[in-house]
This record gives sequence, C-alpha cells and structure tokens, in this order.
Amino acid sequence: MRVPLPQRQRGAAAAVVEIDVDQGSTFGIIADILIPGRGEPVVNGALVVKDSTIDWVGSKDDIPDTYSSLRFSRVPVLMPGMWDVHTHFSGTDIVSQGPGDSYKMFLPGTATLIGAVTVDDLRATLMAGFTSVRELGGYAGDVAPAVDKGVIVGPHVYSSMSVLSITGGHGDQHDVPLQTVLGFSASGSEIALCDGVDECIKTVRQVIRRGAKVIKICSTGGVLSLNDQPEDSQFSPAELKAVVDEAARSGRVVAAHAIGKNGIMAALDAGVRSIEHGVYLDEEVAAAMKEKNVTLVPTRHIIEGLATNGGDMPPVMRVKFDRVLQISRDSYKLAIKLGVKIALGTDTYSSDRKHPISHGTNAKELYWACEAGMTPIQAIEMATANGPETLGSQARKSGQLKVGFDADLIAISHNPLDDIEVLTKPKNITHVWKGGKLYKSL
Ligand SMILES: [Zn+2]
Repeated sequence: MRVPLPQRQRGAAAAVVEIDVDQGSTFGIIADILIPGRGEPVVNGALVVKDSTIDWVGSKDDIPDTYSSLRFSRVPVLMPGMWDVHTHFSGTDIVSQGPGDSYKMFLPGTATLIGAVTVDDLRATLMAGFTSVRELGGYAGDVAPAVDKGVIVGPHVYSSMSVLSITGGHGDQHDVPLQTVLGFSASGSEIALCDGVDECIKTVRQVIRRGAKVIKICSTGGVLSLNDQPEDSQFSPAELKAVVDEAARSGRVVAAHAIGKNGIMAALDAGVRSIEHGVYLDEEVAAAMKEKNVTLVPTRHIIEGLATNGGDMPPVMRVKFDRVLQISRDSYKLAIKLGVKIALGTDTYSSDRKHPISHGTNAKELYWACEAGMTPIQAIEMATANGPETLGSQARKSGQLKVGFDADLIAISHNPLDDIEVLTKPKNITHVWKGGKLYKSL
C-alpha cells in the first residue's frame, strides 16, 4: 500500500515522493518545521526512519549522501508522537455511567465488555496523535498484548493495571460491600486494596505479575470517591516506602495520586516518581519536587472538563470539587512559574465520544498548559520528551526526534507553535507513525 503525503516542494538532496508504507523499509520525511520534542525547532528539517527507529535527523541541507537514493516525503510540521501519562480505559459512560453506577464494574462479563469498548478508545487515542499512554488503573493493560501484536490499533500502553489503595481509600468503592470489592481486587481488576507493609509488598508483586509497568498508589483521598476527602493522607509512610522499594526491585517506579499537601509530601519522602494532580502544591512542595526530580502530572483536562460538565456529579463529590478547583488552578500556575517538571496527563476516562473528557481529546491538556503560562514549545516538551521520564527504565526510547529513538511521529497540517489548539483537532494530525509504521494518513 502506498499513501501519498503532501508534495509541495522538492528537497535539495533527494527526490520527494510518496511514502511506501510496506514497512521494513527506510524512508525519509522533510518538514517545513521539525519540532524535536526537546530543543529548538528546525526550519526545513529532515528525518530518516530505518525499520522502527530514527536513523538520522537534522537540517534538510545536511542530509548525508548515504541517503541520496532515498525517497523523501514533505509535511508542514513533524514532531514526536505525544504521550498521555495519566489515562484510564474502563469503558466509562458506555459500560457504566461513572460515580453512582459503579456496581456494574463488578458484574460478570463486564471486563469483556470494557475490553471491547477499549479497542476503539485506543484507536481514537492513536488517531489523535498519542503514540504512547501510561494507564494508571484500567483495562488497557490487559488489552496491550494484542496492541503489541498489531491485532488492535492503539498507542504503546504502559499500565499500572490496578490502583493500590487502602481499605476505604480513594481506590475503594465505598457503596459496594467490602467482601465484593476484596473478591474483585483478588481476581485481577483495576482495584487493589492493601493494608500494612506485608500486603503492600505482596500487592506490588501481584500487579507486576499481571503486567504492570508502573505502580499506582493513592497517597491521599480523592474527589471522585464517596467517603474520603482529598486532603486525607492515605497509606502510612512505612507502607508508601515499602511500595516504592518493592517496585524498584523490579525496575518499576511509582505514580502517586496525591491532592492534599501532607499526602504529597509523604509520597515524595517515600521516593515516588510522579505526583498526579498535586492540587495543594505550594513553594515547599515545588522545591521538594525539583530537588528529587519528580514530575508533576496536573490533569487539567479532567479538572476543567468537570468544571464545565460535572452536572451529574453526586453532591458529595461536587462539594469537594468546588473546594479544590481554584486551588488547583493557582497551584498549576505556580508549578509552571517555579519550573517544576511537568508531563502531560489528562485523566481521560470517557468512552462516549460526545463527552468532553472522551478518549481522543487528550491534546486539550496542551491548551490548558498554555492558558496557565507555558509557551507552546514548553507545552510540546511536556507532551513528548517529558512523558517517558514518568516510567523510569520501563519506557521505550520515545518522545523525541533523536537518532536511535522509536519512530513514533506525527505530521501536522498547521504550526502548533503559532496556535497550540491546532493539536486539539485530530483532523489536523494528518499522519501518525508508531515504530516506523504508518497508522494514519489523511
Ligand atoms: Zn486518574
């Protein structure tokens, strides 16, 4: 199969033709603007893909003679495929209607239905320009082997499988009998309740056994849970440390859902790699994060999405949400101002394409980042190069246009450095390559 790309101009060093997508081949792309993910954009840039990785990248004028017989295509803008490092593939709004309807997740057959729905959610995510996702609780991790085999079209999936939570904590389901939740937890689900150091260690081993590439814990309560408060600290310091240490023994890092300040600081003390949400971030938290090189994953997309579309939120959650909304906006701006490292994470969870937080809308996070003070180039680094750093050694070399990195690339019809919202419309993402293979061509 051959897929045409724009042929507006001829490169100096090589003929500009259409791309041969029968992979295993070597091909080149010339871009009016090449955005490397980290570092300065290159006007009239060029890149060569060999098999699944980037073989060469630089200025069009410097294309080595070795590639003189190579076929080059031309696109307006080329950048790395994006990363969303906080997603949940749980079929929400199709399988269940979210909070208040959560009993459905425990019914026989539901996991199969979620898996089926997740197939299209993964496709929508890839078509939106996201070539990698970190899933912090959900079912994409169970589906990932089929993605890896090429049976299902989707991004690279790095899943935590389950969410580690204390009994009664943010990851528990407070309106379902505990024995039901414990049975669900033990059967391999997105919930993993554990209490005490020994159970925490065993649960880390169990989720890694299931395929977890990262460990997710809740070191505070949450907004979208019934009977706890986002300011509550959850897990003792000894439990948090046990989780981080056990994960590290298998080369995994830990992502902490952390909203209240005490729980953020406890997670940082224990050695987590990323702080998810980080609502009560202040100067002290920012300094500790910078010192420990911990990444903030602010999930503005869900917060701003619920701010405008949270009408069906149960009142108990609404009260909590209203309390943290402005605090989260202010602390996000502070984090940007103080130079805390930030990776794009949205908390995207909805399988209803009409929902504002549907899978495929992930790039909205870049818009919110620029609203809060980032430049477009900073927002793109957040969405690309910073993503893999939330996974430690488990991440593939991806997120940058660099030699030896995976050829995870997107071509864009307009320049996102002029208008970041270009990235929020999947129709502007004209081409998506994952591992050198072309998955989308408009
Ligand atoms: Zn989440």
